[in-house]
Amino acid sequence: MDMLTYLVVEDNPVVIKILRHLITNTLGDRMVLAETRKQAQGMLLDHSGTIAGALVDLALPDAPDGEVVEDVLAWDIPTIILTSASGAKVRNRWIDKGVVDFVTKDGRYWYPYAVKMLRRLSLNRQFPVLVVDDSPTCLNSMRRMLQLHQYPVVEAHSSEEALRLLSERDDIRLMVVDHELPGMNGLELVQTVRYNFGDRPVGILAVSGVNRGREQLTVDFIKSGADDFLPKPFGLEEFICRVNNNTQSIEALLKLKEQAERDFLTGLYNRRYFLMQAISRMAPQGGRICSLATLDIDHFKYVNDAFGHHIGDQVLKAVSAEMSSHLGRFLLARTGGEEFSILLPGCTGEQATALMDGLRKAIAAVEIDSQDNDTLSVTVSIGVCTSRKVELEILMEQADEALYKAKMNGRNRVVLIDLDKSVGRSNSLQ
Ligand code: GH3
Ligand code: MG
Ligand code: MG
Ligand code: MG
Repeated sequence: MDMLTYLVVEDNPVVIKILRHLITNTLGDRMVLAETRKQAQGMLLDHSGTIAGALVDLALPDAPDGEVVEDVLAWDIPTIILTSASGAKVRNRWIDKGVVDFVTKDGRYWYPYAVKMLRRLSLNRQFPVLVVDDSPTCLNSMRRMLQLHQYPVVEAHSSEEALRLLSERDDIRLMVVDHELPGMNGLELVQTVRYNFGDRPVGILAVSGVNRGREQLTVDFIKSGADDFLPKPFGLEEFICRVNNNTQSIEALLKLKEQAERDFLTGLYNRRYFLMQAISRMAPQGGRICSLATLDIDHFKYVNDAFGHHIGDQVLKAVSAEMSSHLGRFLLARTGGEEFSILLPGCTGEQATALMDGLRKAIAAVEIDSQDNDTLSVTVSIGVCTSRKVELEILMEQADEALYKAKMNGRNRVVLIDLDKSVGRSNSLQ
């Protein structure tokens, strides 16, 4: 994520030091500091559009009773109070006024917590929450709390509506599901979601006001795939804590998935993911044409030997970036050290060859900084295989064969093998 700017309003030098360390060193973000209300007002005028969130003390020399919090809230900036004050009354008063959280600094562990919450505000924007409840009152209070924490909220009043929304949008990352709903109940909804959308990274928090048989209902929900259960009525603060916990689990899951599917250096998909996806994309082939290209950097060993491994890595990144920008709509992967694969379903041999020749020229034109006030460029050889009939394994094998021919014929070129015509043709020269 890009570097974010947070406003800290605090007059205690020790606290300032701790927060500066946590925000700049741990998060790698930017902190703008105001030590008085007057300074804070100036900062808000100068920076309000760029402030992602604020951490505000309640008592300042020129504002003893939270006046600055009101100033910051007036700019619609998500605000967390960090104060030595405590007690339910003062806390609830501020939560009602729309602060995101109220943290009492009565131990050193609360500082990292407050800063973590500050960071969550920006992360939460990428986690749309689908709330399924037929009670307008419950829905309203959950929506308000979620929006306060910057979650995009999507609403459904029945299970059927929720299922429709889930099939329309694959960006929903968390569901809050009430049990008693008109039509299909919440438990059946959870079962259906896990059955129909089994591989979706979506967390489910079940909520219910049912009292009779609650224990069994909780068990049934969790056995059916809910991640958490909260009995109604619940405090909104407990609600949001559980939502945040579930969001963090999904976040960790997405990160693992990303690491398992992608190549670390170039960010392209890895070989394993490519093979899996390619098979499923080709599965309903039914006589439909499909092309597959294998691209290999020419004399790459020389690049490493002459400029060093680090520059070699930069070349791999540059070639990958060029592939993504030209052919991002196709399935692209780094399938070997300096070898890449592209699946082009629906493309004839001619179309695929033309696309690959465009890519070949674009890559040859890229200038890569060689770190000695000079640049270098590389060429690539590409083998394309096309067929309406064969399976992935054969396409890959024959694309390799075409690549071998491209190398033999002088590199920096595209060679096509059209299996349906079963004649190998050399298509393009440099
Ligand atoms: P050709 O034109 O025939 O393909 O020659 P080449 O030198 O490109 O092919 P060769 O297979 O001999 O060498 C491939 C080189 O790619 C060897 C290996 O060290 C390098 N390589 C593989 N993975 C990486 C990587 O992640 N980073 C860097 N810098 N080099 C890599
Ligand atoms: Mg209900
Ligand atoms: Mg090579
Ligand atoms: Mg190679």
